[in-house]
Amino acid sequence: MNTIVLKFGGSSVANNEKLNIVANKIIEQYDKGNNIVVIVSAQGKTTDKLLEEAYTLSKTPENRELDVLLSTGEQITIAKLSILLKELGYNAISLTGWQAGIYTNNTNQNAIIQNIDTKRITDELKKRKIVIIAGFQGYNKNLDITTFGRGGSDTTAVAIAAALKATNCYIYSDVDGIYTADPNKIEDPKKLNSLSYKEMLELSSEGAKVLHGRCVEIAEKYKIPIITKSTFNDKAGTVISDAIEENTIKSVVKKDISRISIVGIGIIRNIELIQKILDIINQNKQELLEFNVTESKISINFKNVIPDQILEEIHSVATEK
Ligand code: ASP
Ligand code: MG
Repeated sequence: MNTIVLKFGGSSVANNEKLNIVANKIIEQYDKGNNIVVIVSAQGKTTDKLLEEAYTLSKTPENRELDVLLSTGEQITIAKLSILLKELGYNAISLTGWQAGIYTNNTNQNAIIQNIDTKRITDELKKRKIVIIAGFQGYNKNLDITTFGRGGSDTTAVAIAAALKATNCYIYSDVDGIYTADPNKIEDPKKLNSLSYKEMLELSSEGAKVLHGRCVEIAEKYKIPIITKSTFNDKAGTVISDAIEENTIKSVVKKDISRISIVGIGIIRNIELIQKILDIINQNKQELLEFNVTESKISINFKNVIPDQILEEIHSVATEK
């Protein structure tokens, strides 16, 4: 029997209507005879609100207590989703991080998973239950609750998928995949069908906020394919795996105000593209601090704050076929 991990982000579980959409996606996979493990985030902006509330009480809340507070967000979602699935006639069980055996180091607010004891999860799967696990949280050797840093539910999903040797790990959100640039900054970026782990890691380190950085490292180490998809349509998503496609530019990202990176394995041999990018910089009379080319990335640091239009021009030459 295949084990499939499905992760749903905060906007996918924000209210009862969306929880119903999520429940139906889960049921669809379960009815095909798969073992289903679901990881969820806190609903909507819950984590932001909890943080805000803590800081109205103290300018310096303790990290340990923040973890106790923030972990409640995910706990609400697992309970609601399990209640709903039971109402729909399916046997589900909710598990918090410690109940799911997710053991971490002691770094509150930014903990790293060290081990997952999967016994409880596999016992429940054997009973044909749908297992719903709280993302972003674990426990440490003092039996304290720890959390993994913002966006950390992605890491829970991939780590659980690795521990269970799952066939696939689906990451559902409100966007249907990874794009050649941030849709908020560029008119018409294209969706990528596939991306290698290495390219995704480059994008994360350049500030593309698509997946929690650590989850890609775990996926690469344990060879778990990640499929990012939208909860709200059936379009094909983006597959992140170890399949490498040489010489296609995957993405152009602008970090902060004056750094642009172009990611794609084999880019170092694309002399024509490198020349076109240098031309754009010259034509726009921009001064460079650094222009660095490696096997899978060109990084450009500009001396001054640059307009988005330069990103636009570079994205257009990098992605033209
Ligand atoms: N709820 C946490 C956050 O908002 C973790 C997550 O959503 O992945 O950062
Ligand atoms: Mg996220």
